[in-house]
Amino acid sequence: MKGILFVLSGPSGTGKGTVCKELLQRDNVFLSVSATTRECRVGEVPGETYHYVSKVEFDSMIRDGEMLEYAEYSGNYYGTPKKAVESLLYDGKDVLLEIEPQGALQVKKLLPEAVLIFLIPPSMKELKNRLITRGREDEAEIEKRISAARWELQQAEKYNTQIINDDLEQCVEDVISFFNTKRRERNKLDELINEII
Ligand code: 5GP
Repeated sequence: MKGILFVLSGPSGTGKGTVCKELLQRDNVFLSVSATTRECRVGEVPGETYHYVSKVEFDSMIRDGEMLEYAEYSGNYYGTPKKAVESLLYDGKDVLLEIEPQGALQVKKLLPEAVLIFLIPPSMKELKNRLITRGREDEAEIEKRISAARWELQQAEKYNTQIINDDLEQCVEDVISFFNTKRRERNKLDELINEII
């Protein structure tokens, strides 16, 4: 049985990274490591946080059909290498992509069976607050991310579900419970299909 491809998405500052970390500890899902042209920040681990590549390398990955999806976000490129995801799914493992909405919608088009989860921030004020307090981006970068969030939030209704990240614990529980519902549905369908063939 093939694994399920889960896509966790939403504006920067919604808490995707924190939710992801919790999910990896508490659920049996495998995170795909993206490729990016953005520079490696202090505390990030090459090959674990991202595969850091040059624009030339990124372009050649696209040309060679190695990307499942990719997008330009705030002046840098981010993409999901296809091979690792495909081999995990083929082995029956559930895979998690933590990506922004342009890429999430490309995945939906390409693989309609993928399950998309949109994380909603409690308010725009709180989103801005989180971007400021985490202290990773400068003021100009925060403005770019807030401006991207306006379009991103309008994509939420295209996702399979929307979950509010107000309280982290509740949010993680809601995501895991949604994962499990999808797993039960998939198992039941497989059972029925096996009965008729
Ligand atoms: P950051 O620079 O904060 O690490 O990431 C910026 C945005 O890019 C975040 O919203 C993050 O979820 C998204 N992102 C990370 N990896 C990928 C990817 O492989 N594809 C796409 N489309 N977005 C990604």
